[in-house]
Amino acid sequence: MNVLVINCGSSSLKFQLINGKTEEVMAKGLCERIGIDGSLTYKKEGGEKEKFEKAMPTHTEAIKYVLEALMNEKTGVLKSLDEINAIGHRLVHGGEKFAHSVVLTDEVIKAVEECNDLAPLHNPANLIGVRACMEAMPGVPMVGVFDTAFHQTMPEKAYMYGLPHKYYDEYKIRRYGFHGTSHSFVSKRAAEIVGKPLDSLKTIVCHLGNGSSICAVKNGESVDTSMGFTPLEGLVMGTRSGDIDPAILEFLYKKEGMDIPALMNMLNKESGVAGLSELSSDFRDLGDAMEAGNHKAKVALDVFAYKVAKYVGSYAAAMNGVDVIAFTAGIGENDAYVRKLVVDYLGYLGITLDEEANKVRGEEKEISTPDSKVKAFVIPTNEELAIARETMELL
Ligand code: AMP
Repeated sequence: MNVLVINCGSSSLKFQLINGKTEEVMAKGLCERIGIDGSLTYKKEGGEKEKFEKAMPTHTEAIKYVLEALMNEKTGVLKSLDEINAIGHRLVHGGEKFAHSVVLTDEVIKAVEECNDLAPLHNPANLIGVRACMEAMPGVPMVGVFDTAFHQTMPEKAYMYGLPHKYYDEYKIRRYGFHGTSHSFVSKRAAEIVGKPLDSLKTIVCHLGNGSSICAVKNGESVDTSMGFTPLEGLVMGTRSGDIDPAILEFLYKKEGMDIPALMNMLNKESGVAGLSELSSDFRDLGDAMEAGNHKAKVALDVFAYKVAKYVGSYAAAMNGVDVIAFTAGIGENDAYVRKLVVDYLGYLGITLDEEANKVRGEEKEISTPDSKVKAFVIPTNEELAIARETMELL
C-alpha cells in the first residue's frame, strides 16, 4: 500500500509518498508560493533534489504538478495514479470533535470546517489540500490526522483555563495542545526502546523545534501539554513568546498604542529567542554567537532551557513521577548544548547526562548514564510516517 502524505498550508504544500509495507519514503517534496507564482521541489529516494518553477494559481495546480512529478518517466516512482492507495492529510485543529484520526467524508469535512474558528490560518488551508486531492484523485480514500487529537485525553483540570466558565460553554475556549502526532509517535517509540508496555510508562516528550511543546504522556495518553488554545502558549520558542503575564498587553497598549493585531504579531513573530537575542530564531546562530561572547544569545538559550526544565518538573509532579524523557524535533534532536542545559536541571529526578552520548545528532540514542533512575533519549520524530501509519490503520 502506498500512502501519499499531504501537509497543506495557505501557500505551501509538503508531500511524501510512503511505501506502507517497508515504511520507506519513495519520494518527497514541497510546493511553495502557491497563489503567488509557484515552485515545486521534488526528490526521489536516492535521487537528486530538483526544483521547477511552475505557475500555481491554486492548490489544484500544485497537486497536479506533484502527481506529474511522481509519475515522471525519468525521476518518477509511479507508473499510474492507481498506485496511490490512500492519502493522509495533516489537519491542525479537530476541536473537541475529533479525539482520533478519521476517514474523510463530506460529513467529516463539514465537521472539520466547524473547527475553523479555532485555527483560522491553518484549518481552511488544510481543507483546500483535501479538496484539491479529492478533485485530482476521486475515489482514493483519505484520512485526516489532527495535531490536537492526541491531547483530547487531557483531564478537565489540565485543559480548563481559570476564566469565566461561559467562555468555554459559548466558544470552547480551553487548552487543546498541538504537535500531537509527534508526541504520540515519540512516546510510543520510547516505550519500544525501554521495552515496557506503553500503558505502564510515564514519559515526558520535549518537542523542541521552531515551534516547541512538551507533553506528559501517562500510560500512552496525553495528560498535559504546554501549548494551549493556540500554539502560542507554553515554552519560549523561535519567535513566539510562550507564557507571559497577559497584563503586559494592556501595558504596551498604553505605552506604545499597540492594537491587538500589532500585539499578536509581536507575540507570534518578534518574540521568543529571536526577540530576546535580537539576532536569530535559529539555535545554530545562537550557539555560534554565544561562543563568540554574545551575552543576549546566551541569555536567550538560558531562558529557553530553563523554561523547558520547569515544564519537565511540573509534568513529573503532574504524573507523580517520570520514567523517560525524550528530546525530539530540530533542536531536541540536534542541539547537544540545549539538551545539556536542560538535563543538568534534572539531577533531582535521578538523571545524569552521558556527555559523550549527548554528542549525538539526529539519531536515536540514550543520553543518560546507565545508572540514571530516569532515562533520557534523543528520539527523532517522523510526523509523516506517523500520518501514513494512522492512515493505513484506519483503512
Ligand atoms: P523544526 O521546527 O523541528 O524543523 O526545528 C527547526 C529548528 O531546529 C531550527 O530553527 C534550529 O533552531 C534547530 N536546529 C536545526 N538543526 C540544528 C543543529 N544542528 N543545531 C542546533 N539547532 C538546530
